[in-house]
Amino acid sequence: MKPFRYERPATVREAVALVAGDPGAVFVAGGTNLFDHLKLGIVRPCLLVDVTGLPLSGVEVLPDGGIRMGATVRNADLAAHPEVRERYPVVSQALLAGASPQLRNMATLAGNLLQRTRCPYFLNPDTRCNKRRPGSGCAAVEEHSEHTAVLGASESCAAVHPSDLAVALCAVDATVCVQDGTGTTRRIPVTSLYRLPGHRPELDTVLEHGELITAVELPALPMAARSRYRKVGDRASFSFALVSVAVAVDLDGDRVRDARIAFGGLATTPWRARRAEAVLRGAPATADRFAAAAIEELATARTVRANAYKVPLVCDTLVATLRDLCEEG
Ligand SMILES: Cc1cc2nc3c(=O)[nH]c(=O)nc-3n(C[C@H](O)[C@H](O)[C@H](O)COP(=O)(O)OP(=O)(O)OC[C@H]3O[C@@H](n4cnc5c(N)ncnc54)[C@H](O)[C@@H]3O)c2cc1C
Repeated sequence: MKPFRYERPATVREAVALVAGDPGAVFVAGGTNLFDHLKLGIVRPCLLVDVTGLPLSGVEVLPDGGIRMGATVRNADLAAHPEVRERYPVVSQALLAGASPQLRNMATLAGNLLQRTRCPYFLNPDTRCNKRRPGSGCAAVEEHSEHTAVLGASESCAAVHPSDLAVALCAVDATVCVQDGTGTTRRIPVTSLYRLPGHRPELDTVLEHGELITAVELPALPMAARSRYRKVGDRASFSFALVSVAVAVDLDGDRVRDARIAFGGLATTPWRARRAEAVLRGAPATADRFAAAAIEELATARTVRANAYKVPLVCDTLVATLRDLCEEG
């Protein structure tokens, strides 16, 4: 491993200045993703700027009823927070669906959102991967891997986005708060945080070098109280999603007044399913309509034989999740 310097600043301004002023510097939080990449030689920073000493670990209810979650709050603490658990169960469930208790005790909110793909080719330095080494090719696309994305892929990259939490946050329209080296803050909807790979798959997000996530805000969204995250993986725990769904519904009798849906495990980014939502809005809450909504969203899916299983799997998962949610009292 290449030697690096380590700093643990106490203020956001100092942390941002350290990274923004050095192209070889990176932020580190829980380290559960970054340290694996250091050991594999996927990243070779000269300076690690530890953000866990910053005053960013609080969770507060905002005057409008939304919730502001600090960037360094640990995944375990966030999942257990009573306001998050009761008013946004989809967020709490997505956190608990990820990794293991030990990892969730270390991992932070922002680190989870910015973790990198688990595509086996990205993680294997002996293979071609445009995300790891731009211009080297994409072995996942060429070898028709069963792990590849069926939505949002390009010829350069079909690596699936890994975060369970990001899928839930997309469904409830969360906003990411970011600060840069000039002291400017900007607010980015989570649905706009991630980039489709196109010809630049090495860029996962719209963040610039040195931009620090300081918080994520959940909007006041009463319908989020009826929400759920369901993940299908090779194992019931400690495995990444083959597919997942995050759903919130607002019912008017036996009709759907409004629905929020996002898919995980399917795409190169967390995938907000707006076409499916449009099919459900005002429609009867029946399994047939739920299936029609899934089919509409997946009409643009591009599959090869190895990953085609994802389409029926996510359709069935969405139907089952919506049915369960709508049957709740
Ligand atoms: C065995 C294993 C199983 C796992 N299973 C799952 C799973 O099923 N589902 C799931 O969602 N995740 C899973 N994970 C991923 C895990 O949740 C992430 O590793 C973790 O959330 C990353 O958080 P961290 O704080 O440790 O980030 P770090 O490793 O510290 O950082 C990750 C990235 O975020 C950047 N970063 C961190 N904080 C900030 C900030 N405030 N502003 C800007 N950039 C920042 C870092 O520079 C780095 O690029 C698993 C991980 C392991 C090792």
